[in-house]
Amino acid sequence: MRAYNFNAGPAAIPLPVLERAQKELVNFQNTGMSVMELSHRSKDYEEVHNRANSLLRELLGIPDNYEVLFLQGGASLQFSMIPMNFLKEGQTAHFIMSGAWSDKALKEAKFFGETRILASSKEDNYTHIPTDYSLDEVKDGAYLHITSNNTIFGTQWQNYPDSPIPLIADMSSDILCKEIDVEKFSMIYAGAQKNLGPSGVTVVIVKKEFLESAKEDVPTILNYRTHAKNNSLFNTPPTFAIYMLSLVLEWVKEQGGVKNIQKINEEKAGYIYSAIDNSEGFYKAHATDDSRSLMNITFTLPSEELTKKFLQEAKERQFIGLAGHRSVGGCRASTYNAVPKEACAALAEFMTEFKNQNS
Ligand code: PMP
Repeated sequence: MRAYNFNAGPAAIPLPVLERAQKELVNFQNTGMSVMELSHRSKDYEEVHNRANSLLRELLGIPDNYEVLFLQGGASLQFSMIPMNFLKEGQTAHFIMSGAWSDKALKEAKFFGETRILASSKEDNYTHIPTDYSLDEVKDGAYLHITSNNTIFGTQWQNYPDSPIPLIADMSSDILCKEIDVEKFSMIYAGAQKNLGPSGVTVVIVKKEFLESAKEDVPTILNYRTHAKNNSLFNTPPTFAIYMLSLVLEWVKEQGGVKNIQKINEEKAGYIYSAIDNSEGFYKAHATDDSRSLMNITFTLPSEELTKKFLQEAKERQFIGLAGHRSVGGCRASTYNAVPKEACAALAEFMTEFKNQNS
C-alpha cells in the first residue's frame, strides 16, 4: 500500500514513474544492464540525457537562447555558484527575502561581494511575499534574486517582478507546478527532489547572453561555461537521477503538460485551503491570502496538544510528512505535482472530521 505522501522533499514521485523504473531496472532497453551501469559516454545514456533536456525545454517553453544544465550539489551549491560567476567587483547583488532559503542564498553571496536586501517579510515571520519595494533601486546591480516558492513558510510569488537587471529565481519547490514565462528570467534553478524526481540533480536554466557575461576566473567545475560547453557531461553526471527526471517529465507530458498540471494543482490545493477556510478558525493558514502557495500549505491548530493529536491520527491513516518545519511549527502539507488529487481530497476530509471531533 502506498502512503499519502505529503513530504516536503524528497517527496512523492508518480507511481507510474516508479513502476517503469522498476520494470527497466535490471535491463534497460535491452542493454543487458541498468541505467546506473551504463557509461555516461555511451549512446544509450546520451539519449536519456538529451531526452530530459528536450522534454524540459518543451514543457516549460524554454527558448533556444537559454541553456539547460544538469548539475550536482543541490540548490544549495547554486547559492554560491551564482555570486561566484555573476557578482563582479564593484557590483551589488539584490535580494528579495521571502523565507529561510532566501536567507541562505544571501548568506553565501556575501562571501563574494556586495549584497543588498531590496525587501523582506522577515518581520512578519514570512507570512507573505514582500511588495514594498521599488525596482528603480536595483539599477546597475549584478542581479536580483528571488525565491519563487517558500517551502518552509508556504508562500509563493503570484506575479514575478519586471526586473531591469537579470532576474534569478530559486524555483526548487515550484518548478513545473504552473505555467511561467521563462523569458522574464536570466536564470532559474531547482533541486530535483520536489517536482522533478529524486535528489541528486539540480536543474539550471540560464540565458546564454547572461552566461556569456559571467566572470572568467572561476574554478572549472564551478564555472557554468564548463557545463554549457559540455552538455552537462564535463564529468560524470548523476545518471540515474537524470534518467528519473526524464521519466517524470514524460509523465508531466502525459498529464497534459504544465497547463493541465497547474489546473490539477489548483484543485488539489483548493481542497485543503477550503478545509482551513471553512473550519471557523480551528485551522489558521500561515500565509496571507495573496501569497498562498500551491505546493506547500502551512497551517496551525489551536494548541500544541491538538497539533500533536492531529499528527498522530493523521499518521495512523497513512498521511505522512504533515509536521510543519521546526521554525514555523504547526503543520505543512506539501502537494507537489506527484501528490494525487485523491490524497489531497482525503486529507481535507480528515481535517474537517478532526475539527468536528475536537472543537
Ligand atoms: N531552495 C528551496 C526553496 C528549497 O526548498 C530547498 C530545499 N528544501 C533548497 C533551496 C535547498 O536545496 P538542496 O537541498 O537541493 O540544496
